[in-house]
Amino acid sequence: MSTTALNHRIRLAARPHGEPTADDFVHDAVEVPSPGPGQVLLRTRYLSLDPYVRGRMSAAKSYAAPMEVGDVIVGGTVSEVVESAADGLTPGDTVLGYGGWQEYSVEDATGLRRLDPDAAPVTTALGVLGMPGFTAYAGLLAIGRPQPGETVAVAAATGPVGSAVGQIARIHGARAIGIAGGERKLSELHELGFDAALDHRAPDLAGRLAQAAPDGIDVYFENVGGAVWDAVLPQLNEFARVPVCGLAANYNATSLPEGPDRSGRLMGTVLAKSLTLRGFIQREFAPRMFADFLRDMTDWVASGRVKYTEDVTEGLDRAPETFTGMLRGRNLGKTIIQVS
Ligand code: NDP
Repeated sequence: MSTTALNHRIRLAARPHGEPTADDFVHDAVEVPSPGPGQVLLRTRYLSLDPYVRGRMSAAKSYAAPMEVGDVIVGGTVSEVVESAADGLTPGDTVLGYGGWQEYSVEDATGLRRLDPDAAPVTTALGVLGMPGFTAYAGLLAIGRPQPGETVAVAAATGPVGSAVGQIARIHGARAIGIAGGERKLSELHELGFDAALDHRAPDLAGRLAQAAPDGIDVYFENVGGAVWDAVLPQLNEFARVPVCGLAANYNATSLPEGPDRSGRLMGTVLAKSLTLRGFIQREFAPRMFADFLRDMTDWVASGRVKYTEDVTEGLDRAPETFTGMLRGRNLGKTIIQVS
């Protein structure tokens, strides 16, 4: 690498209180690192922005360790190999890695997946053919288990997870109800083939949901929690399944919502309707389902049975505002930063 090349990075400056602000991020530039044995130097082409990163910015313990203040913000990346000290990878190869919010990264070759740019646009490895698509596939099929004729509902329904959930549900013969924020997203849901599309920002979501699901809801794929969950709960059928995938409505919350304790009502409904609520982290299912996912989803995308939208913003510098916008719902489809 030329000694003058710099690696521009974005690091965590402070743990956000509520919605992240510009002050929570610091931009800097350091010398480009060199790969050690078994490693490669990568130049980031595309960076994935994902809601879970908000959780990693907090100190709270979760399924993965939090970032430390000063760390480069984490994230999945599609990158080009610039220098290789590993067998099997050569400069010019395109790989899926975990380089984070920076222009260059050094990674162990064993953690990388080589991508074939002729097989599918490489950005799909961050969305429909990557972790979000797999999350939809595994959570829906292993936990939701939709049956022909059943009704499946999902919120954040135009995002990479939700849009795949609805389309896979339809492939399995179920009706799909998508819940999303705003007119633009409702049109998108109709384009994607959802049977009904509901705006969670308009009044009386519960009433509109009851109309859209006259036979009740058999599978609710939980991406958001909050007011949407409150509207869905009374519509769930006996033996309904709820894969609990994410709670986007809570990610920036700094306190519990006001009002009476509703856990009694929740547990009463779980009991009376014999509901299954099952949380999951997608990687649990990777060993037994990832190969099937890649085969099925690649076919479905190629045949047009699963459509996808990507929301690509140019420039690493814009990652913080784009990330905050995604948590607010400003994105349409998979949120990606084009870095170089
Ligand atoms: P999205 O691209 O769909 O972005 C998040 C969306 O959440 C926003 O666009 C917004 O959509 C919606 N949202 C935000 N606040 C609210 C609210 N108060 N009420 C209703 N909707 C809200 O994200 P992804 O598709 O990448 O991820 C979807 C979910 O899946 C997230 O919760 C994420 O954390 C989770 N996830 C979980 C994984 C796991 O292994 N368990 C793996 C990957 C993702 P809108 O404008 O429609 O409201």
